[in-house]
This record gives sequence, structure tokens and C-alpha cells, in this order.
Amino acid sequence: MDVEICPKGRAWMEISVENLAYNVEQLRKLLPAGAKLMPALKANAYGHGAGITGRALNEVGVDSFCVASVEEGVELRDEGVKGDILILGYTSPENFRLLKSCELTQSILDYDYAKIMNSWREPLKCHLAVDTGMKRIGENWENFDRILEIFRMDNLDVSGIFTHLCVSDGKTPSEREFTYSQGKKFNAVVKKLNALGYEPKTHLLGSYGLLNYPQLGGDFVRTGIAMYGVLSRSNDLNLSGVQLRPVMELKSKVTAVKKLEAGEGAGYGLDYRAEKPSVLAILSIGYGDGLPRELSNGAGEVLINGTKAPIAGRICMDQCLVDVSDIEAVHCGDTAVIIGKSGNMEIRAEELAEQAGTISNELLSRMGSRLHRIRV
Ligand SMILES: *Cc1c(COP(=O)(O)O)cnc(C)c1O
Repeated sequence: MDVEICPKGRAWMEISVENLAYNVEQLRKLLPAGAKLMPALKANAYGHGAGITGRALNEVGVDSFCVASVEEGVELRDEGVKGDILILGYTSPENFRLLKSCELTQSILDYDYAKIMNSWREPLKCHLAVDTGMKRIGENWENFDRILEIFRMDNLDVSGIFTHLCVSDGKTPSEREFTYSQGKKFNAVVKKLNALGYEPKTHLLGSYGLLNYPQLGGDFVRTGIAMYGVLSRSNDLNLSGVQLRPVMELKSKVTAVKKLEAGEGAGYGLDYRAEKPSVLAILSIGYGDGLPRELSNGAGEVLINGTKAPIAGRICMDQCLVDVSDIEAVHCGDTAVIIGKSGNMEIRAEELAEQAGTISNELLSRMGSRLHRIRV
């Protein structure tokens, strides 16, 4: 139906294009010489909204992206995002035609997959994944004969080669040693290819690779989480040395305020119990929007009028209760901040993720489709 809905009517995200541009500027300063960003827009741009994020990045001159699936690549095209889009995961041969029609670049997952791609009716643009130790996707770096054979396949246009680091978020001696060994294995493959006249673009760093091991180089850096102004854990914020600004604020409406007498319960299972006369605010956001149920019963907090209000009782699918007994003048129609700033207070995605027992990457990527994404 052709109706206009107020995006701030229930639960929404405010996406700061200014902060995104600022983070891009900061991360560009850290790039290895000659390298370009290839931001990760998978999982709806870590929940931020693939279209909004991709178009905003186009505006600041970013023209290379990576996503997890062909569907995500098609969505970016539908949303008008320009530039190269690399699909990092498996694409079924039934969907190869979409790689062509949407001008997407496919990762070659290994030798067998290369043969499948090569036997398709038209040449496909691709980057070869090389496994240097993560044991996820990629042809094993030791199989140089197979790697060379892939580059020689008639029907493949292999313009890039990449690997993925699996312990680059740490800098203990063993993590360092493993990360450098991955870099060495990758470079050994690239060198041999270069010697035979093949000069694919290279990439191996993600956000933590860029922050901790920029000297490993590459032509592209696949930044995800850091570009959104967030790191996986709060503790990493102190270690990184780079100042980044969160791009997302997550908010909801206060839909009602309720007074409880001492001893009364509230919510499913009556898990919340008022120990004294209390006031609860009802928020129009729940686990169906991506607010983890683990934050129930005071594990998490939100901000209302610049003050923290603990989550009261069990989070429901579409709503939750918060205890506002210590906050003055909360009314229906007020805004609650789940992630972001209110007055002098701020709740960061890292904090909320830790309270839910996870990392910010998971928290953000699971943000629901019901949330309106508003460009601010
Ligand atoms: C998700 C992903 C990235 C981005 O990771 P961040 O840690 O969020 O920067 C980079 N490379 C690959 C292969 C990925 O799957």
C-alpha cells in the first residue's frame, strides 16, 4: 500500500553519514601505501542498512565493497550502489547469471569450485580465496599447482587474490606469530604468481588486521566493524589508538508509563518484582527487533532523559519494560536510547553486546528488519 509511515513511530536507527565519513577518513590514514578500502556491507551493513551505507560510502569516494552472498550483492545494485562488489561466500551455479547481470565479482572458494565456475557458459569475474590457516574457505596455499591452474582457466577472469586472518584481533606472541605466518604464506603464493606474469590485486586485512598488522599490506582492506565506529569488545577501544565514532544510534518510543506497588510483578513469568513502589516505562522494541533477550532482568540498560534505566523483567518479542523509578517525568512519546547518546550519557554497542554475552559484530548484524534506518 502506498502509505507514508513516520519512521520514528516505534523503533528506529539513526545512521550518521557524518560519522561514517569521519571513520573512513581515519581508516584511510592507516591504510598500507597504495591500498584502498573495500568495506564489508554484509548482513545489511552490520545492521546499519546496506543501501544507506553503500550510497553514503559512494559519496565519499569508496568504490569497492564486499558482501557475503549474491542476494546481498543484488540488493546493493537495487539500492543504486556503484562500484565493484565482491561476494565472499558460496554462490550456487543457478545464480551465476546474477553475477553477470548485476556485475558482481565472485570469490573462488577452492579448486573444485573454480572448475564449476569455469564450466559455466560465460566468463566470470572473480577473486581467488587462499587458505593460509583459518581452514574456512580458500584453496590451500600449499597447492600452488592448483592455484596456477585456476589462473590459467579460460573462462575465469581472476583479478584478485585474498586470504583471511583468524587471530589478528590479538597481539600475544603466539597470535603475532600465527598472523605473520599467514602473511608469509599468502605473500609466497603472490610472489610465485607475479614471477609467472600474473598480477592480481591482493587483500588480507580486515578491521583488526588494519589496526594491528597494517604492515602486512595489500591492495585492498576489507574493513567491517571498525568502519561502523565500533570494535568487537570494549577493551579493544583502549588498545587501538584510533578514534572512531559510532555510526548507529538505536532508539525506541516510550509507549506507556505504569506505577507498581511494592510486591507487584510485571512481564512474562512476572520475573520483575517491585521491591518498593516503582515506575515502569514500556518501550516499543523487543528481541524481534534484535534486542537480545539475554539483556532481560537488569542485565542491560537503556537511556531515558540522560539517565540509565535497567531493563525490567523479560524482554518480549516486540516490547520491553524498563525501570524508570529513579528518573523524573517520563512520558508516553518520549524517546529511549538503546545504543547512543542521551544527555551526558552514552551506551555503546560494545557494552550492550558484552551484557548480552556476545561481541558487537553479532549484536549489530542481528538488528531486525522492522527497524527504520534513518539517514541523519
Ligand atoms: C566479515 C569479513 C570481513 C570484515 O571483518 P571485520 O572484522 O568486521 O572488519 C573481512 N573479510 C572477510 C572474509 C569477512 O568475512
